[in-house]
Amino acid sequence: MINSIGVVGAGTMGNGIAQVAARAGLAVVMRDLTDEFLKRGLSTIEKSLQRDVDKQRLPPEAKEEIISRIKPTKEMADLGDADFVVEAVSEDLAIKTGLFRELDRIVRPEVILASNTSSISITKLAAVTSRPERFIGMHFMNPVPVMKLVEIIRGAATTDETYATTRELAEVMGKTAVEVNDAPGFVSNRVLMPMINEAIFALYEGVGSAEAIDEIMKLGMNHPMGPLQLADFIGLDVCLAIMNVLYDGFNDSKYRPCPLLKKYVDAGWLGRKTGKGFYEY
Ligand code: NAD
Repeated sequence: MINSIGVVGAGTMGNGIAQVAARAGLAVVMRDLTDEFLKRGLSTIEKSLQRDVDKQRLPPEAKEEIISRIKPTKEMADLGDADFVVEAVSEDLAIKTGLFRELDRIVRPEVILASNTSSISITKLAAVTSRPERFIGMHFMNPVPVMKLVEIIRGAATTDETYATTRELAEVMGKTAVEVNDAPGFVSNRVLMPMINEAIFALYEGVGSAEAIDEIMKLGMNHPMGPLQLADFIGLDVCLAIMNVLYDGFNDSKYRPCPLLKKYVDAGWLGRKTGKGFYEY
């Protein structure tokens, strides 16, 4: 029975996961490196809940109650009592492996460790712990409070019991879980990123303007956002990094990142976050 959850990282994804878990009634310990990061994470949660209060989707007293269930901390040791731990720190193999080695020492042996990584091998992360059978990928989508899907990724050693517990937790958090096996890009980015990359090739080769490509995918395929606009929202550096994971992981030229994507990243045009990508912001 999972009553408490540790969330490591209070950034975009971490604070979203903490919010959804606390809203589902779980006690949450949210860990980040500095007071400033924790404060920013809590303030994002507060604003998001306030929007729901304003829209009468949440009673005002419930907001305070949800926030009171989240304990912010800089101390790893505070994660020691959690019944389940999900990691949402920066997408960096060395940071994540260092963190999981430490978590493995701190949390009880029966506790499941989960990673929200978008692209790092779950099997590889699991292998640095003494509990690869109780290690799993729990890939939430951004923004976490809004998006229904959790892609649950089974590593090479993940047991059925670990999968079942994780799935149940995702459902308690109001999400729909979909099971996949560990492979580069899992399913979400394996399908999405080559589509975005192909849209960038179409622009690079002058097949159509950015506006034309996006309009065709919006009106013709019923996508809520065109692939180039979506790339700007995700961040072109993130898109390039994921294409490189697919390219290196499969050793297949069909995943080669478009030269135009590399050029934009070299120029520092990373999309919405830098004010310029395929569009200006
Ligand atoms: P972010 O940069 O917003 O947040 C990462 C946070 O982790 C930062 O606050 C940082 O201070 C903290 N951190 C770094 N090392 C830490 C440590 N050792 N202990 C505690 N905190 C630490 O990043 P994000 O966008 O929230 O991404 C987090 C993870 O989620 C990544 O693995 C990313 O690939 C994945 N992800 C991101 C998205 C997205 O759209 N942003 C979607 C799905 C998955």
